[in-house]
Amino acid sequence: MTNHDFRKYAHQLVDWMADYFENIEKYPVKSQVKPGETIHQLPVAPPQSGEDFSEIFKDFQDTILPGITHWQHPNFHAYFTANNSYPSVLGEMLMSTLGAQCMSWVTSPSATELEERVMDWLKDMLGLPAGFSGVIEDTASTATLCSILTAREVKTQYQINQKGFYQQKPFTIYCSQEAHSSVEKGVKIAGIGKHYLRKIAVDDQYAMKPEALQKTIEEDIAEGTQPLAVIVAIGTTGSTAVDPLNEIGKICEKHQIWLHVDAAYAGTAFLLPEMRHHLKGIEYADSFVFNPHKWMFTNFDCSAYFVKEKEYLIKTFEILPEYLKTKENQVNNYRDWGIQLGRRFRALKLWFVLRSFGVKGLQKKIKEHIDWAQKATEILDSQQDFEILAPTHFSTICFRFKPAHLGDQAEINQINARIMEKINQSGKIYLSHTKLKGNYTIRLVIGQTNSTWQHV
Ligand code: PLP
Repeated sequence: MTNHDFRKYAHQLVDWMADYFENIEKYPVKSQVKPGETIHQLPVAPPQSGEDFSEIFKDFQDTILPGITHWQHPNFHAYFTANNSYPSVLGEMLMSTLGAQCMSWVTSPSATELEERVMDWLKDMLGLPAGFSGVIEDTASTATLCSILTAREVKTQYQINQKGFYQQKPFTIYCSQEAHSSVEKGVKIAGIGKHYLRKIAVDDQYAMKPEALQKTIEEDIAEGTQPLAVIVAIGTTGSTAVDPLNEIGKICEKHQIWLHVDAAYAGTAFLLPEMRHHLKGIEYADSFVFNPHKWMFTNFDCSAYFVKEKEYLIKTFEILPEYLKTKENQVNNYRDWGIQLGRRFRALKLWFVLRSFGVKGLQKKIKEHIDWAQKATEILDSQQDFEILAPTHFSTICFRFKPAHLGDQAEINQINARIMEKINQSGKIYLSHTKLKGNYTIRLVIGQTNSTWQHV
């Protein structure tokens, strides 16, 4: 492809992109293709000679697009949103054009310094402790793994990095029964062992019971294991439950246990000062993660990870072969702040979003989502045949259809599964589900950038 061709096709694509956003409601929200439908249309062997871009783009439209679920559709209410916005897409375009690999300060100084600045902005915007330092990771799963690894190294004075688990007593990690699966994955990868992950009982609102945590920690100590870390969820995946951070923080302080806060989805709500009561006790936390790529209009991937002591994080991950040595010190080399060496210039799209919306613009949209969720909860709650199954803390509503004449849980579950399947097959709305106390629960998440009250 020549520069001339690139210019021509890039203009065409930008037009297509603008049309896509303008007409997105014409697409079915959830892709309606069957398993194997896409792969069977793709040649088994790669092309031997280069093909014309117009052919490639035609195949994108004919073969690939039908198999796309339209996450930017304003009727996307499934899982948690992975929303984007115009400034974010523009940021991605520039980022891929520059193609900068931002592993060290020297490999793109402004990428590093912009990341430092926007993470400081975010810290202030959410009301996180002033001493925290931030870094952009790809996902919350990675951030949680980094947190567990750091906890492990701090606890053992970096000995596991040196000698492995030789002569170590088992470590125990704690999260609630409702915690995201990334905690279990992190525990496995960090070599702690799934057997030593304690899933603590939850209360009626699906939040971790601090007294159960305390009891389990004491039992573990008595049995000779080393309590390592507690992962608190603010906004669980199933029902957006909020673990009592302040009480758990005190327990962690008493037993000198690392405290990580997973607010992957709900963190964005703390742009609103009136929501920050959920953050009470954040000063006890050693680390905190939230995903601008979920609810803050920034393309996937962009996960904001904050730590109390950046030295601990760096000491856990830093490695310095000769080919990475540079003469600058007093600068951040973000390759040492996480697992991957090579890093995308994610700060650029975040900067575009923050500047384009402004703090007030972001607050306005998030407040709308939260208000609509409250309103929708009230409407559903007022219907005889519907039941709200968990508190609507943020912008996710957990409910089910439960007509008075039905009492059998299995039957109600089946009907709700059918309702959701029918809705999703219609292509008009996309919802997802969870199970709460054995009840099939429909989740309606409000967080898509272009959703309006009408859509809800
Ligand atoms: N934590 C919570 C509470 C989540 O809801 C999710 C995903 O939905 C994750 C972690 C994982 O997020 P990511 O895809 O960024 O790893």
